[in-house]
Amino acid sequence: MPDPARPVLLRLAMAAGLSLCVSVPVAAQPTALLVEDQRGASAPRSALADEHRWVPDVMTLVGLDEPGPPIHVLLVPESSPVAQGAPTWVAGFAFGSATVVLLPQRTPVYPDGGLEEVLAHEVAHVLITRASGGLPVPRWFHEGVAMVAGRSWGLEDRTRLALDLLWGEKVPLARLDGMFRGDEAAVRRAYALAGALVQDLLERYGPGLPRGLLSRMRRGERFEEALRLTTGATSSDVDGIFLARQTLLRRWLPVATSGAALWFGITVMAIVAGRKRRRRFRAELARMAAEEEAAARVAAREAAREEAVSREEAAERARAKAGPLDAGGHDDWPVN
Ligand SMILES: [Zn+2]
Repeated sequence: MPDPARPVLLRLAMAAGLSLCVSVPVAAQPTALLVEDQRGASAPRSALADEHRWVPDVMTLVGLDEPGPPIHVLLVPESSPVAQGAPTWVAGFAFGSATVVLLPQRTPVYPDGGLEEVLAHEVAHVLITRASGGLPVPRWFHEGVAMVAGRSWGLEDRTRLALDLLWGEKVPLARLDGMFRGDEAAVRRAYALAGALVQDLLERYGPGLPRGLLSRMRRGERFEEALRLTTGATSSDVDGIFLARQTLLRRWLPVATSGAALWFGITVMAIVAGRKRRRRFRAELARMAAEEEAAARVAAREAAREEAVSREEAAERARAKAGPLDAGGHDDWPVN
């Protein structure tokens, strides 16, 4: 008998940067992952965790309450044909609704961090395919939701997006899926943009959006119709949100997208302000010193003038007192 669904915090929404606390049912039984290491006995131990605690969260995100068949996870060597046929920047990929391939010898890079995050991203692709009933889901939505599931929408993504937007032209939604078939730079940019768009949609319509939308697809609605019924928004509305996000990020690039840039800016401003303060302080000291020197010169001149006056007055008094003695010219008086 299945356990009753238990309410949990939707950790994935929080990992995606959403300040939302919602209670949603979680699958009683997580989908099983059957890991098969095809790299031979000499290969280093698997970089994967023994338990994959994030599986129920990903199932909740995409709206699957039942575990369904196990997912086969193949760890393949770099020498295998499947690895040699994959672009160099790919560290894993999903096949249909039951298989994930990981390339552990490739250092996982953007859009995911460690191999466990790559696994979460690829398992999310499998579960999205299952949750949609196998109907076609736009690549940008597939990747954006998988990035949320892989907890890979972080500072690096925002910084990369900021840099991309600084140099690149604005991309309409209709062109986004095609970018995933481009060269490495185009693919990386497509990941950043898809991650930003899905995050915007989750913030606007709530973290239950993928669950609601994909469950409608499972009942037979096509993506655009399921999107409209879940959010009230058409693809054209989403395109507007997407372009507005790119415009906003261009305008507020240093503040909105990069904490590093913000702190760098604050530091520079503090240094400049400090220099200006020190310059003002030194100028003020010099001005006070000059004023004191001028005042001292004035005081010295005044003191000299008063001394001259008093000397003159003393001489005047002496002359007045001696006047009768001198009058007759008594040169024979002793002078002492
Ligand atoms: Zn992906």
